[in-house]
Amino acid sequence: MEQNVIEQVFGTDVFNDDVMKAKLPKDVYRSWKKTLENGEDLDSDIANVVAHAMKEWALEHGATHYTHWFQPMTGVTAEKHDSFLSPASDSKPVLEFNGKELIKGEPDASSFPSGGLRATFEARGYTAWDCTSPAFLREDAAGVTLCIPTAFCSYTGEALDKKTPLLRSMEAVSRQAVRIVKLFGHNDVKKVACSVGPEQEYFLIDRDKYLQRDDLIFTGRTLFGAMPPKGQEMDDHYFGAIKERIAAFMKDLNTELWKLGILAKTQHNEVAPAQHEMAPIFTTANIATDHNQLVMEVMKKVAKRHNLECLLHEKPFAGVNGSGKHNNWSMVTDTGINLLDPGKKPHENILFLLFLAAIIKAVDENAELLRLSAASPGNDHRLGANEAPPAIISIFLGEQLEDIVEHIIKGDVSTSIQGGKLDTGVHVLPVLKKDATDRNRTSPFAFTGNKFEFRMLGSSMSISGVNFTLNAIVADTLQEFADELEQASDLDSTVRALIKKTITDHQKVIFNGDGYSDSWIDEAERRGLPNIKSMVEAIPYLVSDKTVAMFERQNVLSRAELESRAEINYENYSKTINIEAKTMIEMASKQFIPAIIDYATNLADSINKIAGACPDADVTVQTDLLKKVSALLAEAQNKLTALKAKVAEAAEKEEGQEQALFFRQVVFTAMSELRAPIDELELLVSREYWPVPSYGELLFEV
Ligand code: ADP
Ligand code: MG
Repeated sequence: MEQNVIEQVFGTDVFNDDVMKAKLPKDVYRSWKKTLENGEDLDSDIANVVAHAMKEWALEHGATHYTHWFQPMTGVTAEKHDSFLSPASDSKPVLEFNGKELIKGEPDASSFPSGGLRATFEARGYTAWDCTSPAFLREDAAGVTLCIPTAFCSYTGEALDKKTPLLRSMEAVSRQAVRIVKLFGHNDVKKVACSVGPEQEYFLIDRDKYLQRDDLIFTGRTLFGAMPPKGQEMDDHYFGAIKERIAAFMKDLNTELWKLGILAKTQHNEVAPAQHEMAPIFTTANIATDHNQLVMEVMKKVAKRHNLECLLHEKPFAGVNGSGKHNNWSMVTDTGINLLDPGKKPHENILFLLFLAAIIKAVDENAELLRLSAASPGNDHRLGANEAPPAIISIFLGEQLEDIVEHIIKGDVSTSIQGGKLDTGVHVLPVLKKDATDRNRTSPFAFTGNKFEFRMLGSSMSISGVNFTLNAIVADTLQEFADELEQASDLDSTVRALIKKTITDHQKVIFNGDGYSDSWIDEAERRGLPNIKSMVEAIPYLVSDKTVAMFERQNVLSRAELESRAEINYENYSKTINIEAKTMIEMASKQFIPAIIDYATNLADSINKIAGACPDADVTVQTDLLKKVSALLAEAQNKLTALKAKVAEAAEKEEGQEQALFFRQVVFTAMSELRAPIDELELLVSREYWPVPSYGELLFEV
């Protein structure tokens, strides 16, 4: 029987476990596995042998270059390619790659955002091989390149990237979770890993039309655009039949992702026209993060092959839904127990309740930080706009878990629900079936059967931030729990009391209702839950004493690293809005206003000509239109002048928080004010005069 395409291509571009097993001497393979499993330091002899095997494999696949692939604070990946050519060669080329080159790279750190870390320390930067994420091959016009996932840090070891804190947080959560599970008799557990499955939303539009819009090219979103007669109101796109051109893209995308060992699983049309989603099967947080970066890269690349453009921006079009990313997250022991699975056996149920309590407490105590982990300039358009969760962090547990929680709080866990007798809070658990969890699409953090789903992320964001935040805050709470429980003389009663107290103290963060409703905003305020509306307002929480202490306790980020990240966030916000504002100025001055003047002139000519030819003719249509267009044109010109002035003023502000706030409060508002008259004009001006493709053409003509 012929092999299925998935079997044919899956993992063919990955230096995975199977390849290593086949390529490495047995003893080397075994010590390599041990290093990986026990998280020990890598022996340089082993690194040399692995490097050699990796090179041989890459050369067999036609590779000419290798690169340390890393994730600086730009949010996109970076790479610098070196060929395998050895400097020792003279007449005949010698292709080499040794352990040292595998383990360490030295890209110049000075051209990447460092948020001031470079000023205090050195310009030098290092990339260090992350042996927990497999190397892979990438084929493009440059040929085949061996890509080695790496972490990126400064001369003194400060993290300059998104991977380092994630790896540190995974160790932190494992350290504390292992302490807890051991107390409950799971002495064989050596490690607890976080599993992550990110669902990725995106738009696909025709590339020829994309290239006619400076706003899409420079900012990834439309900065002008009137709503077409049809939007998403018919609900006919979500899960709708997939168009041929899009289907061809998806087929190609899947093949490319499977080659990279990415478990592309689900694909469907999303709510907005031209919007789609891809979800892979979950894997460990670190690999999931690398894979998600690759997914975004490959989506962009494959789209171009189909003369499409893939938009990953959170809000490419006003008036229809934007794109997010759902981060499904759970904790699993190396013995295969999902600690977030309610399970059936009583001792596992206590464990589940304890982890649930820890998560509830961690989320409640660090709501601002979690909110920040979903903050980006693009995501400011979505959160709280009735298409994504509000900017208020709350937890959805579902009917049955909420019922259990309520009983635990009341202390009357001996009442029965669903026919079951409850002697303790534990006996109630067997009624929990995975499908008992109701769906609630409006909650930012929802329990979905055996995992939590964080729904606030923006589509273009790295998932590293939310995962290292979740890992760190949960690790911190578990540490507190473990400290208490390890001292307990009666573990059983202590743990029950701890669960009860924790859930009681933090019940305010649990909310099962409609997160999109206005009444929730008021209710959340009464409960004292923070509602942080924008990215700029969220950034200060990254450097609050509480946050710094927590991250430092868990060895995930130091104060200096956090301060640098806050700076980078402010800078990123200011630069993004500055580019958007300048693009608006450019488009308004050079495209829209000239086009509107042409149209108005045409109207005036028409009025004159008709009046000349036939003085009695009624020209009120043209005259009224000309008046309306001229008035809006004057308004647009005023708003353009105002926006220019504000952008100039912003440049004078002190970089950092002050400038970012000015962009948010003043420039951003001036941008909306310029957009309004131009969008209105789009509906009046004849189509042939309008200089850019309309929303209707972009969203429906694929
Ligand atoms: P939805 O209904 O929200 O689309 P799915 O059941 O399709 O949910 O799963 C969405 C994502 O959650 C997938 O990437 C899936 O692999 C992932 N997922 C499932 N179980 C877990 C788990 N235990 N931990 C982390 N992610 C998981
Ligand atoms: Mg989901």
